[in-house]
Amino acid sequence: MKETAGTTEALERLRDAEMTPGICYVCPWTCPTEVYTRKGEIVYVRGNTRASTKGSRCVKGEASHVLAKDDNRLKHPMRRVGPSRFERITWDEALTQIARKLTGIKATYGPEAVAYLWHVDPNSVFAQLFLTECYGTPNYYGHTSACEQDRRLAALTVLGHVFPVHDYENAKFIMLLGINMLGANQNLFESRGLLAAVAKGARLVVVDPAFTATAEKASEWIPIAPGTDGALLFAMAHVIVQDKLYDEAFCRQWTHGFDEFCRHVVARGYTPEWAAGITDVPADKIRRLAREFATTRPAMLETFKGLGNYANGLDASRVVYILDALTGQVDGPGNLILKDWAPLQPPLTIPEARKTKPGKPPLHVAMGYPLAPDLPTQLLPKAILEGTPYPVKALFFQCTNPVMSEPNTALYRKAVQALELSVAIDTYFSETAAECEFVLPEASFYERAEIRQSLAMPPEAIICVPALAAYHEARPVYDIVRGLAEKMGYGDLFRWNSWEEWGRRIIKDLPTDLDTLKKTGFWSGELTYHKYTRTGFATPTGKIELMSEAFAKHGYNALPEYRDRQVIPDEAYPFQLINSKFEMHCNLTTQNNPILLRIRGENWAELNTSDAARLGIRDGDRIEVASPQAAVTIKAKVRAGIRPGVVCVRHGHGFGHWQGIAKGRGTHINPILGTNVNPISGGIGYNECKVRIRKVSG
Ligand code: SF4
Repeated sequence: MKETAGTTEALERLRDAEMTPGICYVCPWTCPTEVYTRKGEIVYVRGNTRASTKGSRCVKGEASHVLAKDDNRLKHPMRRVGPSRFERITWDEALTQIARKLTGIKATYGPEAVAYLWHVDPNSVFAQLFLTECYGTPNYYGHTSACEQDRRLAALTVLGHVFPVHDYENAKFIMLLGINMLGANQNLFESRGLLAAVAKGARLVVVDPAFTATAEKASEWIPIAPGTDGALLFAMAHVIVQDKLYDEAFCRQWTHGFDEFCRHVVARGYTPEWAAGITDVPADKIRRLAREFATTRPAMLETFKGLGNYANGLDASRVVYILDALTGQVDGPGNLILKDWAPLQPPLTIPEARKTKPGKPPLHVAMGYPLAPDLPTQLLPKAILEGTPYPVKALFFQCTNPVMSEPNTALYRKAVQALELSVAIDTYFSETAAECEFVLPEASFYERAEIRQSLAMPPEAIICVPALAAYHEARPVYDIVRGLAEKMGYGDLFRWNSWEEWGRRIIKDLPTDLDTLKKTGFWSGELTYHKYTRTGFATPTGKIELMSEAFAKHGYNALPEYRDRQVIPDEAYPFQLINSKFEMHCNLTTQNNPILLRIRGENWAELNTSDAARLGIRDGDRIEVASPQAAVTIKAKVRAGIRPGVVCVRHGHGFGHWQGIAKGRGTHINPILGTNVNPISGGIGYNECKVRIRKVSG
């Protein structure tokens, strides 16, 4: 390597530095890293080049060392003493008071009145074990309903897999629907694979009302009418069925409901001509795309959260997987991979005699969403404020900020305020923490241990070894839960001398040991394809279910159907509001980061040049975006690369609570969104919103 002034400086910083393997946890993709420290300070961090992500880190990860010293982090436990007023308390006081309240709530309402919510879940397995097995509430939930709830339920019911990943690199035709792989928070090994495939000449088709960073790399951009992707997908299925472009041998052996599905798309008249009238994509183009997809090998389709942003996203997501199945490519090179998981075990075992069985079903089932893979969180305020389907009196919020991230924020705030016990566990203060009774500082991924599954294609376990001492009084979740367990009579089950003790239990079935893992940072198994030939698919029929037995069992249509999105623009509100993320920001952790704020200091609303000209709006003007529910003002970005009639707000700014450098930057859009929940999956329809816009100032 040729040494420059920069590399000399970097090498000097690295001299005598100690490397500990880590996991970046700014976002849920958990990229393995190597953290170099000297004298208790981070001197360098890089991606782990030997793990499946091949050393990739995104800009958020690259800037994350700022976390280690950010003075705006939570430093000690606090208790609320009035609106926006908190007092410092000790850990012992906090845990004693939380334990006392948990005991009282259980005695009065039953353990089900307590729920634990997380966005990113480092070590929340300890909270899960304590609350679900010892305390007795079934209500331990993640954030999926605000994310890929529709695609997850589609994957579970069609393929029998919770989280398919994608072998982009080997694909020759890739069609992405509503997913901005290169410009939002997405899996880095997949983004890397996508770029490699494009470099090798793969055809990339991006279906999105907005010309995204991914569309910039595409062979073809299809600016589809918002929320109509399902019609396009059904019409592609129609072409494949009519032209007999399916892999019949595969379908007969490995799918359930093949004949029924083929008859269904024809009987319903899901033709390209029908779809053209809905999607604004010409029929001959739909035909060409269907034939290209079905006759190119390997070829894949993918969505993530995109289709689920509309009320009709669940069945559209099912058809994504059904199309992959019709061409017989599932779990093969260049298609979706039904990932094998590393054989990791729980860190603790709770003896049967010490378990408490919940007396009520989990909230999502009681709410009437038996198939939902995660809690329909938009319905939580109803449970809190009205006691429906049963009262919720206490919530833990770990690394999650629903008062900011859910639609209908005012209602969510009111619900949190009405709780008898509310506990925020986070690295930073948040809108949700501001309403909670207790705020507990969580250790960051530079200060805590963890062993978890990676989201790479092969089975892979990754490890995070604490690189830094605790930040002020911050504690990892495993220590917080241990303290709570001690206060509530379960201390003997949550006792260890060092994290390595439970770490060894987690990896006891891995063909490696903890010392090796602490050196390498990961264990990777073999990537295998077509695993279903040995095991079948994990669905009720053991096959890919084009016709879902689970849907039928619960009284839903077994075959997917096309429905319009729920909210359609009209004369008063003529624009469809859609949303998109920045790759530079992910929730609270990035908001006060000076490097990321320098790159992207505020957000904006994008609108088409023709719409802007008609309304007298110029690039950079402030505009009002008003829905039937509320209005906000935001900076306008005028561009040709968005479909006329659509306003796309880049979100992730406008957090109101900051006192640090993030204070006052950007606009929060969620207050103008109404409640919109998919009736089967419980996923949130963030794009189900009509708006009008007007210029406020130049
Ligand atoms: S994608 Fe970026 S922010 Fe997310 S875990 Fe990886 S490096 Fe960190």
